[in-house]
Amino acid sequence: MLDFAIVGGGPAGLSAGLYATRGGLKNVTMFEKGMPGGQITQSSEIENYPGQIEVVTGLDLMAKWPEQCQRFGLKHDMNEITNITKNGDIFTLTNASGEKIEAKSVLIATGSVPKPAGVKGEQEFFGRGVSTCATCDGFFYKGRDVAVIGGGDTAIEEAIFLSNICNKVYVIHRRDEFRAAPHEVEKLQKIENIELVLSHTTEEIVGDNMGVTGIRVKSKKTQEEKTLDVLGVFVFVGRDVLNQTLIQEDGSFLCETNDSGEVVVDLNMKTSVPGLFAAGDIRINAPKQVVCAAGDGATAGIGAIAYLQ
Ligand code: FAD
Ligand code: NAP
Repeated sequence: MLDFAIVGGGPAGLSAGLYATRGGLKNVTMFEKGMPGGQITQSSEIENYPGQIEVVTGLDLMAKWPEQCQRFGLKHDMNEITNITKNGDIFTLTNASGEKIEAKSVLIATGSVPKPAGVKGEQEFFGRGVSTCATCDGFFYKGRDVAVIGGGDTAIEEAIFLSNICNKVYVIHRRDEFRAAPHEVEKLQKIENIELVLSHTTEEIVGDNMGVTGIRVKSKKTQEEKTLDVLGVFVFVGRDVLNQTLIQEDGSFLCETNDSGEVVVDLNMKTSVPGLFAAGDIRINAPKQVVCAAGDGATAGIGAIAYLQ
């Protein structure tokens, strides 16, 4: 029987593990299906984590977090949790092998995954020219032309990263204005091998049996269509929360969620179910920042200690 089960080993889960174990909880396990560190490990650069003056990759930023937690006794179980239920005061977690783990309190910190743009060819060419990770796949397009879809922080930052590797980067955005932070947009606008394709929708990602060969876009102002010859398309159009573990047998969620499936929490990261906490990108109104996810995790870790007392 675990005192505290943490599902997800990103900034939120790791911080919760640190605060819970350092605060005295003895039997705490963090379940992480992949490598600890979370989605930020896919980021090519991070420059807004407090105290981190040098710009580093997400992988470098997260490198020491697991070790710090383990020093205080956090156990790491490299398994995916597929379901969480509660019976009386006890939670039961089921892992991908069907094994059951019981816990007195649980944190759900499973974060989010890239949202598909929903355009023709996106699924067909995924992994054959279509990607959602510039750090992972950018190098395959060294000296080639690529397109980025999106106008948020991820699209802009990753377009800048790709401009250092690729010959040309088209940034296709459906509006004239960017959602991304203004200073990143300013940086982007100064880069010579980035071409902005604004107020354009993506109609289709086209290709052949070798992979992507182009992207067909349409102007929202003139309705004119054109095909840009690119070998790679990077889709950065936002993220969907990963909440499937909370779905119960009857299809309802274990705790209250909003229309987007984000978990409703109070200021202490408590959900509507006693003993169940949620932190990071999965919670309502998440600013979707590493520092915020870490703060949420710390709050949840402290909350779990109080709950168990
Ligand atoms: P995540 O980081 O998503 O971690 C969740 C973890 O849970 C993952 O490791 C996942 O494998 C695991 N998991 C999911 N489901 C299960 C399951 N069922 N069982 C077991 N494990 C599971 N933020 C900034 O502050 N600054 C930036 O510069 C910045 N740049 C970014 C660049 C990119 C390309 C991306 C994608 C994001 C960026 N962000 C940035 C946002 C930031 O990464 C997130 O807000 C933050 O990582 C959220 O942390 P989290 O712990 O809530 O979730
Ligand atoms: P985001 O902020 O939600 O932006 C998504 C972008 O994609 C928007 O510009 C949106 O257009 C566009 N879009 C959405 N659906 C689309 C579709 N179907 N087709 C074409 N375009 C579409 O997502 P994000 O950039 O991934 O960022 C997610 C969160 O992580 C944000 O909170 C962000 O601040 C954070 N983050 C922070 C940093 C940082 O701090 N440096 C870096 C990366 C991410 P509209 O603008 O028209 O809606």
